[in-house]
Amino acid sequence: MTRKLTAPRENLDRTVVRVRTSHPISGGAVSPVLIAFGGRAVPIIAGPCSVENRPMLLEVAHAVRAAGASMLRGGAYKPRTSPYEFQGLGDEALELLAEARAETGLPVVTEVLDPRDVELVARHADMFQIGARNMQNYALLAEVGRASKPVLLKRGFAATIAELIMAAEHIMAKGNPNVILCERGIRTFETKTRNTFDVSAVPVLKTETHLPIVVDPSHAAGRADVVAALSFAAIAAGADGLMIEVHPHPASALSDGQQSLTISAFMDLMIRLKPFAVAAGRDLSMPDTTDDVVEIGETLGGNGAAPFEVPEPLARIRRDIERVDRDIIALVGERVRLARDAGHEKRRAGIPIIDPHQEGQVLSRGPDLAQLAELPMSELRLLQQHLIAIARRAQAPDMYTPEDEE
Ligand code: PEP
Ligand code: MN
Repeated sequence: MTRKLTAPRENLDRTVVRVRTSHPISGGAVSPVLIAFGGRAVPIIAGPCSVENRPMLLEVAHAVRAAGASMLRGGAYKPRTSPYEFQGLGDEALELLAEARAETGLPVVTEVLDPRDVELVARHADMFQIGARNMQNYALLAEVGRASKPVLLKRGFAATIAELIMAAEHIMAKGNPNVILCERGIRTFETKTRNTFDVSAVPVLKTETHLPIVVDPSHAAGRADVVAALSFAAIAAGADGLMIEVHPHPASALSDGQQSLTISAFMDLMIRLKPFAVAAGRDLSMPDTTDDVVEIGETLGGNGAAPFEVPEPLARIRRDIERVDRDIIALVGERVRLARDAGHEKRRAGIPIIDPHQEGQVLSRGPDLAQLAELPMSELRLLQQHLIAIARRAQAPDMYTPEDEE
C-alpha cells in the first residue's frame, strides 16, 4: 500500500461521518435522524457508562436529550478490569438502548467486545464503539470494517497516535470508511487523574488524518469534578464531538460512578460549553425539541411567554414539525456536499459543470417523487428547482457573486 486511507486528502476535505437512524413520530410516521461528526456542529454523546436497568436508562436518555445531547451512549457488554465486577446486561441492554432511542429519537452508540456480536449490535445500535482495551484487536476491527455502520474507535491507553491511526486503517481497509477517532486519555505517571487527557492528540490527528475526532473527557479524567474543564479544552483544541458519562445517582452506579456527571451537572456543562464551541468557530448541535411548551414560544418568539395557551396536541405536532425541518435541512446539507463532490469530479474529467441533461434527469423523477410524497406536482417542482439552484451554487461557487451566497 502506498497511501494510507486515513491520510489527509489533496483538497484537504475532511470526512464528515453521519450517523443515521429513524424515530417514530405521530400517526405512525417515521422521521429520519441524522447526526454529523466533522461538520460545523459539535455533537455531544452522553449517557451512562453501563446500561443498568430500564428506568435509569430512560431517565438519563430523556434528561440528556433535553439538555441538548445528540446521541445516547450506554455499555451493554462491559470490558471490566476485574472479572468479578458488573459485566453489563448484554443482549438485554441492547433492547433497552433501542427502546430509549424509540422514546427519545437519540441515536445510540454502544461498545462491541466480540466479533461474534457485531451483527447483533448492528441490529440495535447506530454506531459501534471499539473500546480502548480492544484498539488492537484486529479480528474485531476487521469485523466492524466489514459492517456499514460508523465506528467510534477509542485510543488504547498505552497506544501512540500512530498506532491509533493504524487501527483506523484496519477498519477502513475492510471497506468501512465511517471511522471516528476518540481520544480518551492515556496512561502516564500521574495518579491524580485516571488517565492523562492528551489534548495535543486532537490537532495532531487533524493534521495526520481526515477523520473526525471525538474526545471522552470522562475516562480521561476519571473524576467528575474536572470533566467540564477537559470538555472546554477539547472543544478549544478542535474536537468534533464529546462523549460524556452521565448517571442519575453516580454514587450508586455499577461502573464508573466517580467520573459520571449528575444530570444537573451535565445540564450545567451544556450551557457553559456553548461559548467555547462558538469561540472555536463551531456550534453545539441544537436539541431538536423541548418538552416545555412555554420554552418553545420563548425560543421562537424571543420575547417571553406565548400569547395564548398552546394545547398539548398542537404542541406535539409543532415539535414534530421542528424535528422534520431539522432533518430536511440536514439532508439538504448532505445533498449540497454531494453536489460539491460531483463538481470536483466534473472538473477532473473536463465535463461542463452546469449540465442541463442531468438536471433534466433530476426533474424527470418529479412525478414519481410527487406520488411518493403525496404532494401536488407543482409543489414538488418548486422543491426540485430550489434544490437544483442550491446544487449549482455548490458546484460552481465562482459563477455566483458573494451577494448570491447570502
Ligand atoms: C467506556 O466508554 O465505557 C469505556 C469502557 O471506555 P474505554 O474503552 O475508553 O476505557
Ligand atoms: Mn465507563
